[in-house]
Amino acid sequence: MKKIVVVGGGAGGMELVKKIGSKLGKQHKAEITLVDICNHHIWKPLLHELATGSLDEGTNAIDYQVHGAHNGYLYQQGALSGIDRDNRQVILAPLHNNNGEMVLDERRLDYDYLVLGIGAVSNDFGIRGVKEHAYTLDLTEQAMTLRERIQHLFMQHANGQRQGKLKVAIVGAGATGVEMSAELHHMAHALRGYGYHIDDDLLQLTLIEASESVMPALPKSKLRQLVNDKLLELGVDVRTETMVTSIEATGLHTKCAEFIEADLIIWAAGVKAPEVLSTLGLETNNSNQVVTDDTGLSVSDERIFSFGDCACVPQENGVFLPPRGQTARQLALVVGDNLMRRLNNPDAELKHYVYKDLGSFVNLARFNTVGNLFSHWRGGLQLAGAPARFVYASLYRRHLLTMHGPFKGSLLLLINGLHSLLRPQLKLW
Ligand SMILES: Cc1cc2nc3c(=O)[nH]c(=O)nc-3n(C[C@H](O)[C@H](O)[C@H](O)COP(=O)(O)OP(=O)(O)OC[C@H]3O[C@@H](n4cnc5c(N)ncnc54)[C@H](O)[C@@H]3O)c2cc1C
Repeated sequence: MKKIVVVGGGAGGMELVKKIGSKLGKQHKAEITLVDICNHHIWKPLLHELATGSLDEGTNAIDYQVHGAHNGYLYQQGALSGIDRDNRQVILAPLHNNNGEMVLDERRLDYDYLVLGIGAVSNDFGIRGVKEHAYTLDLTEQAMTLRERIQHLFMQHANGQRQGKLKVAIVGAGATGVEMSAELHHMAHALRGYGYHIDDDLLQLTLIEASESVMPALPKSKLRQLVNDKLLELGVDVRTETMVTSIEATGLHTKCAEFIEADLIIWAAGVKAPEVLSTLGLETNNSNQVVTDDTGLSVSDERIFSFGDCACVPQENGVFLPPRGQTARQLALVVGDNLMRRLNNPDAELKHYVYKDLGSFVNLARFNTVGNLFSHWRGGLQLAGAPARFVYASLYRRHLLTMHGPFKGSLLLLINGLHSLLRPQLKLW
């Protein structure tokens, strides 16, 4: 039986294994193995909610091993460390536990077709101090570490063991930075409601952006203005056209020779693909992304596909796909079709992917949601407030329904709905 290995069970990878798992794996037409560093999947666009406790990982995490058993694929936990292309084997680094003890030795998995979808990591652009002093939101593990740090800071203030303002600096005013800013305000408000003795204006949040506007990816300046106004209303100090030059334990230095003090620094200033991709012998760009054609096939290897944040995929006019949830999902599904074609006929023509921007939404916790729907069509439809929140929430609902099927997915949505009534707004442990 032919073997397909998919590395990366993220926003795109999970849609892919779900699709080929049911069409190939369950029909015994191919053996599919998913590899991921983590043992469970949480939809990455919600990592900021995990980091503040708004999202309950209990009902929202998907256990790869169990999901695979029900959906026609096998699972191996591990980090991609190399590929032996001559022998068509994926190499996984030894797996260690939290104490640094080895659990599994290096492993090699055979493949006939390999798919790389390992997403992106924060790009520090070589700026001094980012790695040492800033938190990033790339993996669920990091979101949980950040959650603990934020909770401890609030706890110290509530118990009088820290004085003055709680100074937070977030670098990067894209979706992650903006949503995290609003989430932190929501968290402060909720904690006051739970009896934390903290002032209304305890949080002193600075959002730093190198470009001239917040949410530079949003096409409409009116939407950017809405986001900006809401952040200002929340008391966020929005600093656009501000370049961070270095970071230290107590704050950040900017190009204008200013020092912004911070007790907590979150780095959300841009992404690049993981370093390991540039060591595989495949053509990659200077952001470590695997260069593919518009079918998702690597330009260096007829047996290797890639999609999502870790792929450099050309579109018309020399434009490349943006690193976004919708592009990861859409191309992953096209790669699924292409795998099925190639499995039937190794010379089959592959399906081409044409990007259609369905829109962008940014959720400012419970304060507002804004976005642009069907951006590819006459500039799209601008939404704010309840309709925007409905569309934003629908994207995750669709993901859950796809992952679990209509029956179990609907039950989970119902449970999530009931949880929003029954459980506290924040998960504190
Ligand atoms: C807080 C936040 C908010 C966001 N909001 C939005 C939004 O509103 N709209 C939008 O379009 N996009 C948003 N994004 C971006 C979006 O999440 C990504 O574009 C999308 O998840 C990319 O999907 P992917 O499948 O390529 O990678 P991912 O979803 O990142 O999945 C990659 C997977 O690979 C695994 N992995 C990583 N390295 C290895 C390795 N070496 N070996 C094995 N496995 C590995 C990871 O554990 C992960 O499961 C947001 C991102 C963040 C962090």
